[in-house]
Amino acid sequence: MLTKTVGNAVISPATILASKHVRDGIIGAWDKTQAESCEYGGWIYFSEASGEYRTKEKKGQATGIILTPVPDHKDAGYVIVADWHCHPDNGVPGARPSDQDIANAKSKDYLMLVVTVKKAPKSGWKQDLLAQTQIVDDTHAKYRVWNIL
Ligand SMILES: [Zn+2]
Repeated sequence: MLTKTVGNAVISPATILASKHVRDGIIGAWDKTQAESCEYGGWIYFSEASGEYRTKEKKGQATGIILTPVPDHKDAGYVIVADWHCHPDNGVPGARPSDQDIANAKSKDYLMLVVTVKKAPKSGWKQDLLAQTQIVDDTHAKYRVWNIL
């Protein structure tokens, strides 16, 4: 999904990742994912009234994380706009959204971000993967953020 609309606000990976609150949430989950070789992730909420984002974190398992159903945010007015999860560093295989991630995204009416190590096959990513995903942040020293289309 490229964007999600909340009232008059258009939410995109760029607007989400511009939030320091979101970036801090991703970094915290990333550090725990790598330290424990266990996927962490969670949900990203937005309030049109405040114009701010909030996150809620969840611990998954070594091989995956289930982020449905989406819990309500404790603060009134915050609605789900995205979920995210981090992959442990297991080399190139985990350095992209999995086929299961791509399949799961089809049933969601919000954005889905995947955070991976910055590795890639020598021959580059296959065209069918690039047709279903986009790299939305490659600026962090350690991780790369993908959006599933
Ligand atoms: Zn995944």
